[in-house]
Amino acid sequence: MEPVLGCIADDITGATDLALMLGRHGMPVVQRIGCPAADDPWPKGAAAVVVALKSRTAPVSEAVDQSLTACRWLQGQGARQIFFKYCSTFDSTPAGNIGPVAQALHGATGAGIMVVCPAFPANRRTVYQGHLFVGDRLLSQSSMRDHPLTPMNDADLVRVLGRQVQNSDDVGRIDYACVRQGAGQIRRELQRLAAQGIKFAVVDALNDEHLKQIGKACDGMPLVTGGSAVAMGLPANYRAAGWLPATEGLVPIENWAGPAAVLAGSCSVATRDQVAHMAAVCPSRQLDPLGLADGRERQTDILDWAAAHMWRKPVLIYASAPPETVAAVQDRLGRQRAGELVEANLAELAVGLRQQGITKLIVAGGETAGAVLEALEIRELRIGPEIEPGVPWTVSTEGSPLALVLKSGNFGRPAFFSRALEMIT
Ligand code: ADP
Repeated sequence: MEPVLGCIADDITGATDLALMLGRHGMPVVQRIGCPAADDPWPKGAAAVVVALKSRTAPVSEAVDQSLTACRWLQGQGARQIFFKYCSTFDSTPAGNIGPVAQALHGATGAGIMVVCPAFPANRRTVYQGHLFVGDRLLSQSSMRDHPLTPMNDADLVRVLGRQVQNSDDVGRIDYACVRQGAGQIRRELQRLAAQGIKFAVVDALNDEHLKQIGKACDGMPLVTGGSAVAMGLPANYRAAGWLPATEGLVPIENWAGPAAVLAGSCSVATRDQVAHMAAVCPSRQLDPLGLADGRERQTDILDWAAAHMWRKPVLIYASAPPETVAAVQDRLGRQRAGELVEANLAELAVGLRQQGITKLIVAGGETAGAVLEALEIRELRIGPEIEPGVPWTVSTEGSPLALVLKSGNFGRPAFFSRALEMIT
């Protein structure tokens, strides 16, 4: 199949979410973990490839380099449009990485102007007057203000992005009054802003129809940026151009035998609720980062514990903790080190669990999922059935069979883990 869309996602769960969005809208899609090597071929049967990076919280220069390498590979393969995917809660710091990466891709693709729109209405993320809402709260009043790595204290996306790019005057916005008039009007507004030298247009979106119109307005633009939901409008453009086959993008997962484990590294409210829900009915074990740091807590003990339980019931291993506990750990270890330590331990546990025979693995947390996939040396995922909006089962096509869920921290209802496991047993 001819390459159509090349996507660059700044974390793994976000990449899966985007791949699902494209698959659901009839686009055969493959998710690549990490940057492909220069001579890697375009995966067979894919119209879209989503390259999943782990660049959300990497140093700015690393995030830019990785994104440019991915972009060059996608362009070299012949992708007709590039999509830069970030989180629907615009996870970033004052230094980046959304702004610097978008700016670099702007240069690499020769884009005049790009839309910037993290809205994901099905998950209650909307953009109004340039401000990002999570449900009925501004982003800065949501639980995102306590995120361990990317606390979001400002909901004004023009201001947030303006701080991250070289020139804050390059950021403009297109408001709801324009968006509701549809693709034609959005396109005219994009052209008007581009003529003023605006490179980044923060676009309001309150519902899926708005997103479809934004997608339509992006037809033929070299670069689109946004949360995964913005991509819902793109396949229609490709279909109209005759670039897409009539096939469905999602693979079924049936009769998947074997034990299951959940590894949770996200500290989001949603994940902590899910952890509490599962801990009430399954064997569970909480990791103590300080214990891991000073060697009191050991991988082998945890794996022995898992081996003793996992053949009877799914097991849950989690580091998830409320903000005050995370803050205390970060005070002792430093924010970066605490995060890396927990990620590394969960990743090693994933490897151990797979060796012990786990065939179903659910990972909660974007950074955590990135670390886990790297440790498992998984490079390609096919997208399976959807569990809840934005989160599918996936299948690793390399090595022994493994069905995986990579859940972004914020996503899913309290019973998410058990619902996911019920789907494929
Ligand atoms: P989310 O998808 O919610 O953003 P991530 O996995 O991306 O989740 O980020 C959560 C970060 O918090 C990870 O770096 C993880 O290692 C770190 N973390 C998890 N539990 C703890 C803890 N108890 N103390 C300190 N940091 C933690």
